Parts: sequence; structure tokens; C-alpha cells
Amino acid sequence: MVQNTQRDQRRAADFVKRYNPPRIFGDFKWKHVVTVEQFERADLDILFKVATSLRRRVASHDPDVSQLARGYLMASLFFEASTRTDLSFQAAMRRLGGEVITPSGGVQFSSVYKGENLADTVRAAACYADVIALRHPERGASYEAAYYLDTLRGRITRQTVVLSGGDGIGEHPTQALLDLFTILDQKQSLDNLTITLVGDLKHGRTVHSLAKLIARFENARTRVNLVSPESLKMPREIVAYLNVRKVATIETDRLTDVIGKTDVIYWTRVQEERFENPTEYDAIADAFIMTPDLLAQAQDDAILMHPLPRKHEMGTPSDHDLLDEDTRSVYFAQMENGMFVRMALLALVLGLEV
Ligand code: ASP
Repeated sequence: MVQNTQRDQRRAADFVKRYNPPRIFGDFKWKHVVTVEQFERADLDILFKVATSLRRRVASHDPDVSQLARGYLMASLFFEASTRTDLSFQAAMRRLGGEVITPSGGVQFSSVYKGENLADTVRAAACYADVIALRHPERGASYEAAYYLDTLRGRITRQTVVLSGGDGIGEHPTQALLDLFTILDQKQSLDNLTITLVGDLKHGRTVHSLAKLIARFENARTRVNLVSPESLKMPREIVAYLNVRKVATIETDRLTDVIGKTDVIYWTRVQEERFENPTEYDAIADAFIMTPDLLAQAQDDAILMHPLPRKHEMGTPSDHDLLDEDTRSVYFAQMENGMFVRMALLALVLGLEV
């Protein structure tokens, strides 16, 4: 992970207030994507329709898919560890026929090593690439990137957009899009569903974005259980965001009260890297462990999701194996969907004919 200073953190966080992300309103072309708040229900319908079609076309080896993004380049800038987001963005771009550039050896061997700031690093990438997939440890970093990319418009030969691949403890918009796509794929609609988000709801950016997306379905009578230890509760503004949009929420640390009445169980890892004090982490690290015995208490038609990576919050490696065998565990399908949703997003922001 790239070391960040408190000054950098404050600077990035300021951009959340300073930069107003463009609403999609049916037109994705050349729009940065930094928060799920940019998406209306109709935008989600467009995105998921394209993702479903690309999934079908990839499965049938449609040769035209790999011609769609020919001539386009994506720069992959990951300032923080990643397996799925990085690989799936890269795979998405390549499957569309586009190409990917990334600093040889990762960003730690780019000029970041010499102390270059984010504003200059993203603008360097924009001089070469059409789209930037950015992951960064600071909340607001993608807003900062979007702001500085806009300063280049008209001054270089192309318009480059940034797609956030996760901003510190802020948001992870593309993860939430693929999570929602997976829920709709499995359950057809959010109507009357009970969704239980479990674990580190304070630092988990995926649950921040997913909760906001669920709030888009105002009249669906979706219920959201927020299960966490007291010290890792969902930020107040996100609970308020849900409640203002009439999504019923229950906050509890008693999973056993809700697990048997849940349609979607969304498990998360305690984000060890976000804790300043290791003893605070140790105190709650084992608060919620998913095991085959616990899953046995869930409904037969419930689904178990996890953004991954997983550690001990899904028990031992042999628990992992047993959980994986359970047909209610959909986290591998969720992961694969990530590539199709990112293909769709890339195609739409680049304005490709899909
Ligand atoms: N991969 C997800 C993220 O980047 C979840 C996690 O790391 O626990 O936020």
C-alpha cells in the first residue's frame, strides 16, 4: 500500500465536497464514476441490460465483442492491494478488445515513489489513456482525480474518465453495481427482500455503496439489517440516507435474531488495515464468523454473498470449502458478474456500440 499522510487524506476528503460528480441521467459517455449516487434506477436498468447481453455474448464466444473497444486504452492505477477489482477491470477492457497500461512493477515504482501527487499521476495517465481505473487508500481520491482530469479538457487531445475502484473507507461504486446485479440476477427484484449486511460496516466501502444503491429502490419495501459490533456500526449519514428514502433498517449486534429471516446475507471482512490501534482490531476481529453451522440457520432460498477477500470471518479453510459447496453461496458468481458489469460500464462510458 502507498503511504499517505494526514495532509493527503484531508485534501482528498475535501474533494468530496468540492467536486460535484455528474449525474448519469441515461448518458454515460465520458462521465467519471466516483459514487453510486450518480445513478438513477433507469441508469441501472441500462447498465444491467448491457451487462446481461455481454455476459451472453462472451459465453457464446461472439467474436464481435472483442472488436468493440479496439483502439482504446485503459490505465490501471492501483495504489492499494487488489485481486478482483484490478483483474476484472483489466479482463473487462481486454475482452472488449481494448488494451491496458499500468506502471511496470505497479504504482510504487512510478513517480509516486519520487513523491508525485495524485493530481499529476492521473493527469500523466490521461495523456496516454482514455479511461483510468483507480483504487486509492484515501476517501475522496477518485473525486480529486475527476476534478483534475476535468482541468485537462480541451488542453490535450482526448477526454479521459476515471472509474473508481474503491476509495479508502468511502465508496466502492463498481463493487456495489456488481453486487446489486447479482442480487437481481438471483432474486429477480428487491421487492420485499430482507438484506442483511454483516461485519465491518464502519470501514467497509462496499456496504456503504451497496446501501446507497438499495435506497434507490424506494418503493420496493426492502428491509436492511445492519449487523455489526457497536464500534463498527454503519456511518450515521448512510443510515439516514436509507431512512429518508423509506428503507426500513434494523441495527443490531445479534445476528441470530435476523439470520433465519433473511433473503440476502452479505458477509464482510473486518478491515484490519483501517485500524490505527491493533488492540481495537483484536477486540472485535472474531465478532462475526460465518461457518457451515451458522449457514444452516439461514433460509433454504437465502443467498450468501461476500465481496472477498475472505479471512477468518468465514472460519477455517475447511469451513471455506464446506461453505463453497453450499449452493446458497454465490460469491464466485458475484465475482464473475464483476467482469460483465465492468465491461458494460466501460462500453457505456466510452460510448461503444453495444
Ligand atoms: N475487496 C473489497 C474492497 O476492496 C472488500 C475487502 O477488501 O474486504 O473493499
